[in-house]
Amino acid sequence: MAIEDNRGLIIAGAGVALLLAATLLSYRTPAPLGPDASPTVFSASRAQAILKELVGDDVPHPIGSAANSAVRELIVKRLTALGYAAELQAGLVCNDFGECGTPTNIVATYGGDVKAKDAVLLAAHYDSVPAGPGASDDGAGVANLLEIARILTVMPARRHPIVLLVTDGEEAGLLGALLFTREHRLAGHVWAAVNMEARGVSGPSLMFETGTANAWLMHLYAASMLRPITNSLCYVVYKMLPNNTDFTIFKAASYQGFNFAFIGDVGHYHTPLDSWANASASTIQHQGDNALSAVLALANSTDLASAAQDSVFFDVFARGVMVWPIAFVLPAALVALMLLLAEAVLLSRQGQLTGRQAAYGAIGALTNLLVGGALSLGVLALLRILGRSPPIGAPPWIAHPVGMHIGFSALALVSAGAVAAWFARRAGFWGFWFGAGVSVALLSVASAVAIPGASYLLLLTAWAAVLAALPCLFLGKGRALTHGAVNFAALTPGLILFAVLLPLLLLLYPALGTLAWPVCTVTLGLVTGFLLPMLANATRSARQFVTLLGAGVTFAGISITLLLPMYSPSWPQRLNIEYWVDADGGQAHWWTQAASLHLPHAMASAVKFDPLLRARFTGSPSRGFFADAPALKLAAPDLRISATSGTSQAATHFELLVRSARGAPTVLVVFPASARVQDVVVTTHSGPLRAGRKHHQDGDTALVLADIPSAGLQFGIDLSEAPVRVQVFDQSYGLPEELADGKALQRARPQNATSSQDGDVTVVQRTVLLDPAAGR
Ligand SMILES: [Zn+2]
Repeated sequence: MAIEDNRGLIIAGAGVALLLAATLLSYRTPAPLGPDASPTVFSASRAQAILKELVGDDVPHPIGSAANSAVRELIVKRLTALGYAAELQAGLVCNDFGECGTPTNIVATYGGDVKAKDAVLLAAHYDSVPAGPGASDDGAGVANLLEIARILTVMPARRHPIVLLVTDGEEAGLLGALLFTREHRLAGHVWAAVNMEARGVSGPSLMFETGTANAWLMHLYAASMLRPITNSLCYVVYKMLPNNTDFTIFKAASYQGFNFAFIGDVGHYHTPLDSWANASASTIQHQGDNALSAVLALANSTDLASAAQDSVFFDVFARGVMVWPIAFVLPAALVALMLLLAEAVLLSRQGQLTGRQAAYGAIGALTNLLVGGALSLGVLALLRILGRSPPIGAPPWIAHPVGMHIGFSALALVSAGAVAAWFARRAGFWGFWFGAGVSVALLSVASAVAIPGASYLLLLTAWAAVLAALPCLFLGKGRALTHGAVNFAALTPGLILFAVLLPLLLLLYPALGTLAWPVCTVTLGLVTGFLLPMLANATRSARQFVTLLGAGVTFAGISITLLLPMYSPSWPQRLNIEYWVDADGGQAHWWTQAASLHLPHAMASAVKFDPLLRARFTGSPSRGFFADAPALKLAAPDLRISATSGTSQAATHFELLVRSARGAPTVLVVFPASARVQDVVVTTHSGPLRAGRKHHQDGDTALVLADIPSAGLQFGIDLSEAPVRVQVFDQSYGLPEELADGKALQRARPQNATSSQDGDVTVVQRTVLLDPAAGR
């Protein structure tokens, strides 16, 4: 086998190019259907027209705002025009993270009386964040829901009733979904939910979360989707992110079902750029098609299986779905490992592989991963030092990432080329084949145990390695092995791994940001592990070519990235401006947080900022810049004791009334760690509700009250220290009109920066002494 052969490398290159083209083609979003499409199909044009009516003015409509009521009225009007009896559900509710509010949901039913536990819920949220109009998050979901509501009226009745739920206060802490599952009479009749969400404004609609009867659901999904894009690894990645959706609440209420979202152009998410003009019609088409198919499939299903049973699944080029039970994964991984070892023994009997070669092959495969990992972390660190990768804690995306997508992928070639140069003679083709195969087989056993959702990648590859070596083992017996059969043994597992990995790599950056890059290099290192055998057979100059190609492409990628700015007007950094009044001391200040941790020059010259980064308030994890500001006389929030009772040694029970005297929608109450807050209880329609608590780093406990009534909100709390000093903040959107400096700061915010999430806010802060002895 000492004959040099570059054909394997050439076929590998062609295979990679073909798979790349096929993947990019199949994961495109569908063409949007026009307004004249058949009334029984989903049309993005019709949904877009609805979306324009709802949010075409690009005005944010957070929970409790006037714009929120206006959007709600439009939704109700549309449902009523379609013949639905739209009902409003409002009430106070708190989540497990110390966030309370009074959302108003819209509920309508299709398909007769809901009596049994067999209803299918279709959900989307109509509130936006305060900073942006939320056209995609989740206006598109609402418009899709209304288009589907229309389709239902022109279709024959389904086996099970469908409940349409448009929630409020999702952005304030999943409050509307919580209110529905907790208090609505239909909540107990719902068996499965289909939720439509967004963490971006474009890209394909991904099915990334299901209920617990996963195996049953995935077979239903596989049978009903036109363009399925899903895999069981998505959910693993989603759980790593700080994002939640209403589906979390539905799942907690034991609903089965599907959660759909799109994540393209995540730079627009929760900013003013999440606008009607930026919402993608083809994304709306894909999400609408998916949700309609899912709802119809669930509403028509004959058996309502709900036995919790997990499965591993992935789509194949968005055309079909492979599903297998999770119980199958570990045995299959172990068998693949055994067979691979047996094949190595056979190869050594045939004189193709020695123990020494196998050992060098294994070391080579491992070194390939380590070198790739080290190189990519080094490049990432370099980009961070040179200010082209966002600091830790900031949103991890940059304006022009394509150069580094390609650059970090090419690093896998640099590493493989170098490893081949070091080990090729000692490992040889079959040594490297064994090294790549056995590392994938071992990892597939490990992932079968630790992250079964991810196991399909490695399991398929391990089995491909086992099967693709068979021709060499049996056909080549006693004869010289043909180059074709030899290359086939390494090409097959390598290309199969590349094919299943690629759709994930395309989604990894929108999901994880710059962290996706080293992950990309290392996982591609598993692919190039199967390139090593072919590199061992290749000529020296071919090996050098591969290394230089990788290095050249990486260098070009880094250079392009260094030449381009980290942020742009279409991918701005997040930068909010806040005006704070300290009602205790009568002072005021500006506070601004820039994702880059650098204050733009124009803003620094508009107002004199302290260059030192400091916490937003004591105990807050957010750091930003302070500047003195003129103190306006804004009424301070009010926190008073309405009753105390049950003083035990352990705790005193307080009934507190909190209120924003200036009508600010949000109030934050922060109790010091020493108060050891035990229970927070609010009174709701359905009785007392224990609220969760949010703990700050220094042990303080915070309660966030969104959209509180003008008369104030009463809550009960047990404190183990009294009297106690409590910080109270109220927050309103925007800066005070009368402050010229505020306007100047907003004007000075550069084109490549934007407000996001809560946006620019005005905060009034005070300290209240809660003293039961003071007799208030
Ligand atoms: Zn959302």
